[in-house]
Amino acid sequence: MKKNNRIETKVIHAGYHPSDHAGSLTPPLFQTSTFSFPSAEEGESRFAGESEGHIYSRLGNPTITVLEERMAALENGGAALAFTSGMAAVSAVLFHLTKSNDHILCSDGIYGCTFGLLQLLKQKYGIDHDLINMDDEETLRSAIRDETAVIYVETPINPTMKLVDLEMVAKVAKEHDIRVVVDNTFCSPYLQQPLALGCDYVVHSATKYIGGHGDVIAGMVVGADKAEMAEMAASVRKDIGGVISPFDAWLLLRGLKTLAVRLDRHCDNAEKIAEKLKSHPKVGKMFYPGDEEFPQHALAKKQMRRPGGMISFEVKGAKKDAQEILNRVQLIKLAVSLGDTETLIQHPATMTHSVIPKEEREKMGISDTLIRLSVGLEAWEDIWADLKQALDGIE
Ligand SMILES: *Cc1c(COP(=O)(O)O)cnc(C)c1O
Repeated sequence: MKKNNRIETKVIHAGYHPSDHAGSLTPPLFQTSTFSFPSAEEGESRFAGESEGHIYSRLGNPTITVLEERMAALENGGAALAFTSGMAAVSAVLFHLTKSNDHILCSDGIYGCTFGLLQLLKQKYGIDHDLINMDDEETLRSAIRDETAVIYVETPINPTMKLVDLEMVAKVAKEHDIRVVVDNTFCSPYLQQPLALGCDYVVHSATKYIGGHGDVIAGMVVGADKAEMAEMAASVRKDIGGVISPFDAWLLLRGLKTLAVRLDRHCDNAEKIAEKLKSHPKVGKMFYPGDEEFPQHALAKKQMRRPGGMISFEVKGAKKDAQEILNRVQLIKLAVSLGDTETLIQHPATMTHSVIPKEEREKMGISDTLIRLSVGLEAWEDIWADLKQALDGIE
């Protein structure tokens, strides 16, 4: 396959040659834990790393390899590794890049369990962290310490959709020889490519848009540098062992084939829903990068191909009104997670962000009336009809 193929083509073909597997159009599922060696000598040379063959599925499996090569191609990285969950991917990259007494600098809004992991790293290994507003270059520069080993960024930040300028962060990090890790879960490589903007690693909860069908928990790390990724495979992935199962890798390969068409529909639907929400009398502030009034609309246009499928909005009223909307929807499912074919709705203050103290939460812009919507692939008219009847129903 040509290296310069477009992403719509790569999601279907990258990393796989049917001729390698008896012409099988789709990558076969190698549902096996181990691989038998043709001879003792061949076994010896595989263990010595002198021969390419497989040994044991935690160390490598042909189905997982196709997924990893495909993801590396999609993010324009040197290599990728697949993990059993998004959190296994996040912890692998942080274990790989830090040692005791290092410092991690984070965007001021990160996934709840990533925050939990940072607490753990601090308590057990003295790896400190700060969450800072990365809006401007000076604030970022002044927060860097001698011990800073990693800048860890989420953009858009969940659930307020605040963006971080990845090109700016990568530029500052390079000057200090600091690695930049970007959680690209909300965008997928179809909408945003952090490595092309100078960042070093991308992590994904592949549970979300990569899988896309709400039927698998998985994670990916893609690194710009192939040698660094080989080191991660031979250390944290092998020895901590959060490797994806071959079947889950196979499901992700199936999901990935439609990534481009799915994301386009997610984005189309979100545009329509945002437009309708904006003119509904019960809706207050809206957080959607595609909104012309969104404070970072220009940055969204610069670093994202399209504004994505996630919308947050405030309901005019109180917490009970937000909860009532969640109770009134029927087609839309009341569930956390995102990026599925089904439209999902949740209440960050009492669900995904409930562990954050109320005062902190409000500083982050997460009020008790904020609702987060992961716009699915149903007809947008049906999604809106359901949302509208729920909004119309509150006092
Ligand atoms: C869901 C999610 C994760 C964690 O992924 P799991 O697959 O649930 O382990 C990390 N980051 C973001 C932004 C997520 O949405």
